[in-house]
Amino acid sequence: MQRRGLLIILSSPSGAGKSTLARRLMAWDDGIRFSVSATTRPPRAGEEDGREYHFRSRAMFEAMVTDGDMLEHAEVFGNYYGTPRAPVEAALAEGRDTLFDIDWQGGQQIRNSTLGKDAVSIFVLPPSIAELEARLQGRAQDSAEVIAGRMARSRDEISHWAEYDYVLVNDDLDATEAALRTIITAERLRRDRQPGLNDFVRGLNAEFAARA
Ligand code: 5GP
Repeated sequence: MQRRGLLIILSSPSGAGKSTLARRLMAWDDGIRFSVSATTRPPRAGEEDGREYHFRSRAMFEAMVTDGDMLEHAEVFGNYYGTPRAPVEAALAEGRDTLFDIDWQGGQQIRNSTLGKDAVSIFVLPPSIAELEARLQGRAQDSAEVIAGRMARSRDEISHWAEYDYVLVNDDLDATEAALRTIITAERLRRDRQPGLNDFVRGLNAEFAARA
């Protein structure tokens, strides 16, 4: 009997290193599938439809919500973002883990859903606000106005840190990545995520009995 997949929810203000950590986690274990969200925001340079996001019109997005095709959805920076339900349910059933790069609103919705027991949530904090701002400015793609908006949004995102199972301060990428791996390794080993244990221990007891 295979274990159910794990839903790994990774949230942080933008600029705290979340995307890099997500990439590293999937490079560490290629069995972890990235949940590609749908969004109404336009693609940035280098982004590909179906890889970073499914880029959709507002009308198409709203139709997906109405049809019940979204596991969760939220409005972020004036755009809709949401998690398509079907790939997540398929991964769970196949015992594959899924990684979600979603905000606190999405985290709340998944935790409170029927899939909440399969979720582990991790919040990544920046080492300081000065560092957060420097990282946001380092992304040449965004205008000053966009950066100011993200700083305001970051404050709001950070205010939800205490809703998460694990909280990491990302002052060193390698150390934070190692901590993330540790969390996932431990969560996979939780007793209730190892469905084969009952049979295994029954086998151990049969061995004991055979010796008596
Ligand atoms: P960006 O536009 O920079 O890619 O993402 C903006 C924010 O939206 C990030 O905090 C990201 O985690 C969040 N986000 C991306 N996809 C989803 C989603 O499917 N659901 C929710 N609730 N938030 C998302």
